[in-house]
Amino acid sequence: MDKAKIKLITCGLPYANGKAHIGHLRTYVPADVYVKYLRLFGEEVIFVCGSDCHGTPIVVNAEKEGLKPKELVDIYHEHFQKVFREINVEFDYFGRTDAEYHHKRTQEIVQRLLDNGYIYPKEIELAYCPNCNRFLPDRYVEGVCPYCGAIARGDECDQGCGRHLEPGEILEPRCKICGSKAIYRKQKHYFFKLTEFKDFLLDYLGKLKGTENALNYAKQWVTMELKDWCITRNLEWGVKFPGEDLVVYVWVDAPIGYISFTEKACEGKMDWKDIWLKSKAEIIHFIGLDIVYHHCIFWPAMLKGAEYSLPNAVVASGMVKVEGKTFSKSRGYVVWLEDDYLASGLNTDFLRYYLVNYTSHQKDLNFSWEVFADKINNELIANLGNFLYRVTHFAWKNFGKLDAKVDEAALEAIETAVDKIKKALENWEFKAVSDAFMELSSFGNNYFQNAKPWDLIKSNREECEKAVATCLQLAKALTILSYPVLPKTMKEFSKFLGFDVKKSGIEDALKVEGFEIEKPKIPFAKLFPEKIAELEQTMHERIAMAEKRELGEKGELEEVKVSVKVSEVETRGKVKVEEENKPEEIDMREITFEEFKNLDLRIGKIVKAEKIEKSKKLLRLEVDVGDEVRQVVAGIAEYYEPEALVGKLVPILVNLKPAKLMGVESRGMILAADRNGEPILLHPDKEVEPGTRIR
Ligand SMILES: [Zn+2]
Ligand SMILES: [Zn+2]
Repeated sequence: MDKAKIKLITCGLPYANGKAHIGHLRTYVPADVYVKYLRLFGEEVIFVCGSDCHGTPIVVNAEKEGLKPKELVDIYHEHFQKVFREINVEFDYFGRTDAEYHHKRTQEIVQRLLDNGYIYPKEIELAYCPNCNRFLPDRYVEGVCPYCGAIARGDECDQGCGRHLEPGEILEPRCKICGSKAIYRKQKHYFFKLTEFKDFLLDYLGKLKGTENALNYAKQWVTMELKDWCITRNLEWGVKFPGEDLVVYVWVDAPIGYISFTEKACEGKMDWKDIWLKSKAEIIHFIGLDIVYHHCIFWPAMLKGAEYSLPNAVVASGMVKVEGKTFSKSRGYVVWLEDDYLASGLNTDFLRYYLVNYTSHQKDLNFSWEVFADKINNELIANLGNFLYRVTHFAWKNFGKLDAKVDEAALEAIETAVDKIKKALENWEFKAVSDAFMELSSFGNNYFQNAKPWDLIKSNREECEKAVATCLQLAKALTILSYPVLPKTMKEFSKFLGFDVKKSGIEDALKVEGFEIEKPKIPFAKLFPEKIAELEQTMHERIAMAEKRELGEKGELEEVKVSVKVSEVETRGKVKVEEENKPEEIDMREITFEEFKNLDLRIGKIVKAEKIEKSKKLLRLEVDVGDEVRQVVAGIAEYYEPEALVGKLVPILVNLKPAKLMGVESRGMILAADRNGEPILLHPDKEVEPGTRIR
């Protein structure tokens, strides 16, 4: 840590289009914990964030709800502020990107990029709906990913390979509003010369600090081909592009929020230009793993082009799983902050502790109510809660006021904990940070147990006072050292020890000055199994409902997901958040025989096989299923030569709803064994007639 420099910490902006869930907090809580520790260590810190208010999803959603985009944003902006307040994530400024000051800053930066020659106009073909009479930017259009063949949104292949898609790239575009087939029309748009920044980025990424996960992805991407980015869109809602009837792409203006919010946070305190133009601060971005590309490639190139200061570190949190399954709002694997957690009345510090202590910041975090209850009851309460209460209560009951005599061994243990925390913070290892104070708490429990003050008080009051004062010193240190993770509880508890933890610095953990103890209250209320069972029940009901919904409307998307597999290595634009077809995550729910009987499974004979043009993965097969020859698209081109397949007998699901893949209709699905993504075809043990039923 470079103590001489002020630090600016930012968090990826929550998108003002939905409610806060546990996936959000995976980034915000550790960032807040980091900021609170830095302040504890006496560092000067500015901590900003705000609502990301632009982009087509908000416009589309608002239209659906009969609201103006701003009205929709108002709802979620307030929601996030409330949630952050309750869970004690305390930003110095929480802004919004639809505010005037933000538009001003964005336009100034875009103008600088224009002046410096990094933006150029180009006529491109864009999806246009002749029925609605409008261009179809980003989420207004749906079609087929040109890279993997999955159903994709206009700007992102979110169900398939995860790539960022440039305007005009999507195949078979359809209007999302009216469902009509879209046509391509020419229009002038503006591009950012990302390709010119390759050398700069190679050098920059070599120096950038942060977590390995982010840096490794970024370094991999920059060595691959960079593309210029189209940075304008046909929309009303957004930051106007200078001199045109267009707005800038949301990924241009959203990160500029880090700058505009800093301006607001600095008002009346310091000059924001010292941070963003004169490089006098250390800039650290906390983000989720799914937006590494934007923060490590696009954003630094933009800042460089506009001659702004460059970020020093990017810290990316791992993904979140719920009950062992990939986090998914649509499938019910989600914990909503307001409706689930806050409504349950549980101590918000419990969730903060879980998020920080479950695993390393870079690894996937699994949330399960059972593990939650175990960690809270058997770690936090049994160790830390027990020590704090026992010691303080004993001291209050038997002494009230105590002299300042403390065992050296305890001071050494505190010093060790402080060192461990300092070191772990430098590596953004928040689990190690919280482990350090939990170890100190164990030390305290042992010390208390061995000293037996309940016996000593009868035989040697002076000895007893020293032992208890030693434990109180440990309790005080623990209150201070755990405050960044457990702010609500420790703020309350420090009162019983006779001080205010909010006003304390790290040096107070070792300052020995005697105690005046108040009658303490139990710091943490125990989690009862009934409460946990209730919360589990809510989640399981939600998952069951989602499953029902899915069974009811098994649409094209599901089929495409099963048919097309894309390896993680190919993911360039974005790391997928919902990799729903990972083999280990297939839901092994029981089905009835009736349900099984609904599947028309047969042995088919492949009579023709050929590659599909422009697709690396897909083969077009003609399969004799007994009463007819079916056309089926299978994602096996990387593993099987078409010629070798003709004449082969394979199991086929005949009554699967037809789907189009790369414009080719697929009627049925070939079943194969999945060996880590590699399809292995299956063949019957003996020769059977095409059309033979599988039972
Ligand atoms: Zn794709
Ligand atoms: Zn339309």
